[in-house]
Amino acid sequence: MARRRPMRMAYSPVTNMLRRSYVAVDQALERDIPVEEVMGEHDEKRAKALKGRRLKREEMAERRHFLQTSLGLTGAALGAALLGVPRPAFAGDVDPDVRIVVIGGGLSGLRCAHRLNELGIPSTLYEAHPSRLGGRCFSDTTFFEEGAEVEHGGSFINTEHVSMRHLVINLGFSLREINGGSFGDGEAFYHIDGAFYTNAEANDDWFDMAPKFRQALNDAHYPQTFDAHTEEGVRLDNLPMTEWLAEIGAPDRFSKLVQSDTVMEYGLDIEANHALAPLYLLAWNSRSTIEPLTGGDERFGVIGGNDQVITAMAAELPPGTIVMGKELIALSGNPDGPYTLTFQDGTTDVADILVLAQPISKLQELDIEPSLFNSFLPAHQLGIQNMLMAKNSKLHLQFNERTWINPVDVGGGQILTPNGNCYQFPLDGFQLTWDETVGEPLRHQAGIALVVRRQQGGRAPGQ
Ligand SMILES: Cc1cc2nc3c(=O)[nH]c(=O)nc-3n(C[C@H](O)[C@H](O)[C@H](O)COP(=O)(O)OP(=O)(O)OC[C@H]3O[C@@H](n4cnc5c(N)ncnc54)[C@H](O)[C@@H]3O)c2cc1C
Repeated sequence: MARRRPMRMAYSPVTNMLRRSYVAVDQALERDIPVEEVMGEHDEKRAKALKGRRLKREEMAERRHFLQTSLGLTGAALGAALLGVPRPAFAGDVDPDVRIVVIGGGLSGLRCAHRLNELGIPSTLYEAHPSRLGGRCFSDTTFFEEGAEVEHGGSFINTEHVSMRHLVINLGFSLREINGGSFGDGEAFYHIDGAFYTNAEANDDWFDMAPKFRQALNDAHYPQTFDAHTEEGVRLDNLPMTEWLAEIGAPDRFSKLVQSDTVMEYGLDIEANHALAPLYLLAWNSRSTIEPLTGGDERFGVIGGNDQVITAMAAELPPGTIVMGKELIALSGNPDGPYTLTFQDGTTDVADILVLAQPISKLQELDIEPSLFNSFLPAHQLGIQNMLMAKNSKLHLQFNERTWINPVDVGGGQILTPNGNCYQFPLDGFQLTWDETVGEPLRHQAGIALVVRRQQGGRAPGQ
């Protein structure tokens, strides 16, 4: 006799939230990291997996944000207040003689040192650059006229980037709506092989393709990991995206749009992208619209520039915490520490706990003693050995007017109003444009950003 599957109990939203919070607290205690970071991680994973339920998720994120700001609590304190549990880590838990070293003064390394400091735990952060912190978070508010803000690196903060949004607010900054650099009333433009491929045409093709993306997602669910994967996941992971697009019968222009989008998002050449890359970007979109091509809502930016977050965190650290111009080149020691660090300038240091917060290309260059490398988690070893560094770059231009949102005759009697986003194929020029000044006061002149390919074959480590 067939066994009936046990019914899933329905929980109220409040019960669900509490269950999530309890799980987060357990994990935070186990991993010795703040509850807010666990919850932020959960939110990000969930956002990927449940992209189709975007609106509901946004409401929840907004509600948490509202609770946080209206109660005047930090993210960790909010978790604690809801659950009646203490903060998960204390300075007193850490032996004062334990020396913690963080390598890399980008967002991740700095936040690590900053969070440790918030908990009363000292650390030393070494940054290779002689004078600039921030790495790939690099705002420019001085080059263009009227102080127009542009981001050389990371621009957009998604709604589900809860930890980042908390951090921005807690440091005293405000977010502005930038919506992926697009204007709400218009539509994205796709310029394929020198001709317009309208949004309506792309959506028609997507209507036919969406079930195939959905089926593939079902067969190769997100995420596929080194220790938890399906047979189809492995196949798609090894199949070039162009072959997969041909296999599912993607129309030529649709295929090229997806290629342009995937290259733009992941920064790897067309051939280097496997089938899982476009799949996990688009498979959650509703069947009626291929947007958002970017895989997230890219809703916010920090007013005044994202890298104020960097400057503010650095300013809160005790003097001497950050040491500039120190590039780590070699690492040795026992798997459980201590670790000996050798720097480019010939100096050395010793760490009991070490945090490597560098781009993958820089980890690949690091001379790591083999016995130490072999003690890393298999996932980390595989990642360091196999991951590729993205090569996209941005080019910013400033104009006196926003010509790119003027209505355009796309032929066949159709006049379309662009929203500022334009994807292009082939990829020998640019892949995507967006307007960096969306949401800024009108006194600013308009600026547009293009994503351009770096020369084939060369890496762009950490740039
Ligand atoms: C063009 C571009 C656009 C992007 N757009 C977005 C976006 O819209 N939204 C988004 O969320 N993300 C975006 N990102 C990604 C985001 O910027 C990065 O994920 C994030 O900034 C990475 O921070 P990190 O601290 O991990 O690394 P990094 O910012 O790379 O920081 C690493 C730091 O380590 C230092 N370092 C490297 N090697 C050594 C060494 N051996 N010794 C000492 N120091 C070392 C580097 O100098 C650097 O300061 C974009 C990135 C780029 C490049």
